[in-house]
Amino acid sequence: MRFVRYQIEDDAPRFGWLLEDKVGGIEGDLFGEFRRLEAETPLADVRLLAPVRPSKIICVGRNYVAHAKEHNAEVPKVPLLFFKPPSAVIAPGDAIVLPPQSQQVEHEAELVIVIGKRGRNVTAEAAREHILGYTVGNDVTARDLQRADRLWTRAKGFDTFAPFGPWIDSDFNPSDAVITCRVNGQMRQMASTRDMVFGVSTLIAFISSVMTLEPGDLIFTGTPAGVGALADGDVVEVEIEGLGKLSNPVRAE
Ligand code: MG
Repeated sequence: MRFVRYQIEDDAPRFGWLLEDKVGGIEGDLFGEFRRLEAETPLADVRLLAPVRPSKIICVGRNYVAHAKEHNAEVPKVPLLFFKPPSAVIAPGDAIVLPPQSQQVEHEAELVIVIGKRGRNVTAEAAREHILGYTVGNDVTARDLQRADRLWTRAKGFDTFAPFGPWIDSDFNPSDAVITCRVNGQMRQMASTRDMVFGVSTLIAFISSVMTLEPGDLIFTGTPAGVGALADGDVVEVEIEGLGKLSNPVRAE
């Protein structure tokens, strides 16, 4: 099933589900007991929002060998983790804003895990029970600031640097899907999620051995090779086969 968060005109944001190109509301708790109302509103008549409001956004660095190589970096022995702040979230279609502090803001196409159930010390075998579904993400990065700083908080944390969506797919199989990034229609990144160094279950076990995962938390699973710069006026599209396409324009602050 595909879940969305949406707004009709000025109504309060709400969770919903998709049936082809129609949206239906969800009554109850998306992370617990809920009931689906009939999908009768055309998708074109709603504004899609970021599909969840995460309490934390955990990201995995250098999780594809070819991407680590393009930065002359070693592939980590254990998953390399960092955070993006929830304030960096934007809705599908919202603009990524290039901050004046950076001359080199880059796209990073990523598969994103959406946590559905609270968990600490989750085993790899039990990881699936804690996943609500998957979505498409762009780990926007100020590469020059990442190189300048030892910690990546600034480079990864600007407002608008965490686009994800447009929906969460609870049936998606992440084992071998093509992930691409296009800028103005031109292919920049293409790989398979099969090439991740640490897979979904391993990541959930590793991360939950450190911190409690909460419903709605996101795990950005790392980007393949081919990252590159974004400029004012660009449109960046991240697509994962069988999951969806996330599109955002880019503008200077
Ligand atoms: Mg990344």
